Amino acid sequence: MKLYSIDTGHFKLDGGAMFGVVPKSIWNKLNPADENNMCSWAMRSLLIEDGDRLILVDTGIGNKQDEKFFSHYYLHGDASTDTSLAKHGFHRDDITDVFLTHLHFDHCGGAIERQGDKLLPAFKNASYWSNQEHWDTATKPNDREKASFLKDNILPIQESGQLKFIPREEGIPFSNDFNIRFVFGHTDSMMLPQIQYKDKTILYMADLLPSIGHIPIPYVMAYDMFPLTTLQEKKSFLQEAVENNYILFLEHDPVNECCTVQLTDKGIRVADTFRLSDV
Ligand SMILES: [Zn+2]
Repeated sequence: MKLYSIDTGHFKLDGGAMFGVVPKSIWNKLNPADENNMCSWAMRSLLIEDGDRLILVDTGIGNKQDEKFFSHYYLHGDASTDTSLAKHGFHRDDITDVFLTHLHFDHCGGAIERQGDKLLPAFKNASYWSNQEHWDTATKPNDREKASFLKDNILPIQESGQLKFIPREEGIPFSNDFNIRFVFGHTDSMMLPQIQYKDKTILYMADLLPSIGHIPIPYVMAYDMFPLTTLQEKKSFLQEAVENNYILFLEHDPVNECCTVQLTDKGIRVADTFRLSDV
């Protein structure tokens, strides 16, 4: 098995929304805001080469929405999914599986693209993986979460016939050395890949832990549907990560790809940060 970090580009989100109840005087030191109170965040996918499967975990925001939509998110950086795949010798048509942790637009927008007046899968040879419970939440969203679930990102996956569902069973295998963990605080039934790699365990944190700035327990995003559930889940995953020396892969951290965590007098905090290619 080989793993590659895939930079699909950076965007900006409101710093206050990203840090929930934490005051700006504190979070601004971790992630300095611009004049609009926005902070820069990565959209970092993970590419897994496993035998004859090439699995892409999440796809970034994509490029099919209109100017007005993108004017809220300040896309920046030179990278794109195609250029990042090419850096490792791959093309989007090589992807056999697109694994979607959840269907918020910054995780699945790149899954579907506009071709003429049609919305079609950007990865034409891939199966697209979600789970029934999350799919139902995304296609019949509540009023609070609606703005994150865009019909144009989601419905064409089903229409293409490439959509498949994973049973919601904690720890279910997805491929060799790749098992799925389920969490429920950020959104219903978000899926976290847990991967055995070079005698290490790597956990793809998705929106359970967007960045190293979110390691202290109360630092939970205001976007989360059930913040107290996130808090419990984060506590138990971080505890497990300390005890087993897991590597945490950070999808949204603007700088750090991976980290380990340790127990300190103040609680669990970051131990090391490093690039996936250094594992
Ligand atoms: Zn999300």
